[in-house]
Amino acid sequence: MHDSCRMTFRRFHLKAVEVRKILILSCIFYMMYLIQDFYLFRSYFPAILKIRLGIVFPVMAGFVALTFTPIYYRLAVLTFSGVTVISAAGIIYIEYLVRESSYAGLYFYGLAQVLIVFLGSGKMRLVPAGIIGTVIVTAGVWVDSTFGETDPYIIVTKSVFMYGILFLGMIVSGIVQFNARDRFSKQRELHEKTITDPLTGLKNRYFFETVLEDEISQFINMPEGSKNLIKRGTDLIESSCYSLILLDIDHFKKINDTYGHITGDVFLKDFAERVRRNIRSGDVFVRWGGEEFLLILRFTDSSSTEALIAKFREEISGKPFYLDGVLRRVTVSGGYAVLEHAMFNEDVSFYKVFGAVDSALYESKRNGRNRFTRADIGSLSREAVKS
Ligand code: GH3
Ligand code: MG
Ligand code: MG
Repeated sequence: MHDSCRMTFRRFHLKAVEVRKILILSCIFYMMYLIQDFYLFRSYFPAILKIRLGIVFPVMAGFVALTFTPIYYRLAVLTFSGVTVISAAGIIYIEYLVRESSYAGLYFYGLAQVLIVFLGSGKMRLVPAGIIGTVIVTAGVWVDSTFGETDPYIIVTKSVFMYGILFLGMIVSGIVQFNARDRFSKQRELHEKTITDPLTGLKNRYFFETVLEDEISQFINMPEGSKNLIKRGTDLIESSCYSLILLDIDHFKKINDTYGHITGDVFLKDFAERVRRNIRSGDVFVRWGGEEFLLILRFTDSSSTEALIAKFREEISGKPFYLDGVLRRVTVSGGYAVLEHAMFNEDVSFYKVFGAVDSALYESKRNGRNRFTRADIGSLSREAVKS
């Protein structure tokens, strides 16, 4: 048995959409400080403005723009940390500029705030980030008034600005987040309905066509020697094997004819549940249509695929189903293929592979049903074309 398919599964937790939200919030926070710049450091304001609007903000906006491009998937970590570094560098430089001012030192609290909100909003938790921000500001005010500043007017002004900016920032972030979350959850709910089969609760063909088909096509058409990185929605995954298994219930029409459509529906649910119990959480089980199902396994080599098929054949054909109070044995036929990285010729499409799996299913039917046939995809391989 070759182990080439026991691949690492890499999932980038830094999803582009989430990172974009955090980066936008950081930009908002950063710009909030213009209020402080204007009121407390008026003589330095033109110089500060140049740094904020001329350098730091364009770079931050550039990173936000990057989250909309495919490059983001390769530079996710850079995007995330780039903003922290550039905004921190900007703040430190501004602090250096205003070192002679009686309000000098104020930006360091701002720096701490930006970092905390940035970290705190990693999972978009606004309340803990707000509490930590408040604690930092309070500690800063206390240290400053106890050991440093003696002028009560300056202490009060500094405090007003620090709490004020924190408070304003929290409100703006809150509004941005609330809107985004609300929109996101509604979209998600609708999206879930679109990709789910209402009878079995499995993913439907639409899901397959919009997400998986693209994923498998990318895999099939991957250049030789590449790193096996495949884009799936907003995630990057790594795999060097895919198994496609197409299943079709044998003589299902008879079940409908004998017990009625309602019982037929109940059977389909039971069937789906039995298969689902025997697959891993990362595998995708799709209701292809009617009584046909498609199972997609990643990181599964030939022998594991065949072992799995044997397992759920036993689960389906080996254990009778209750149909309208009667125990009845139902069998299933299938066709399958194990796709391995770099085996395909450039012009092979997903449909050619799927067509071969479909033909294998029909061969199973022709040969008497209750069996699985391996698709002949050897003729689509690079080796076959070379020779
Ligand atoms: P074979 O072994 O060749 O696959 O025969 P079969 O009877 O399973 O295949 P056929 O394609 O002739 O019939 C499939 C039947 O599945 C016909 C259709 O009425 C039924 N069917 C499709 N979708 C549903 C559904 O959602 N619920 C029910 N109860 N029946 C369905
Ligand atoms: Mg059928
Ligand atoms: Mg059938």
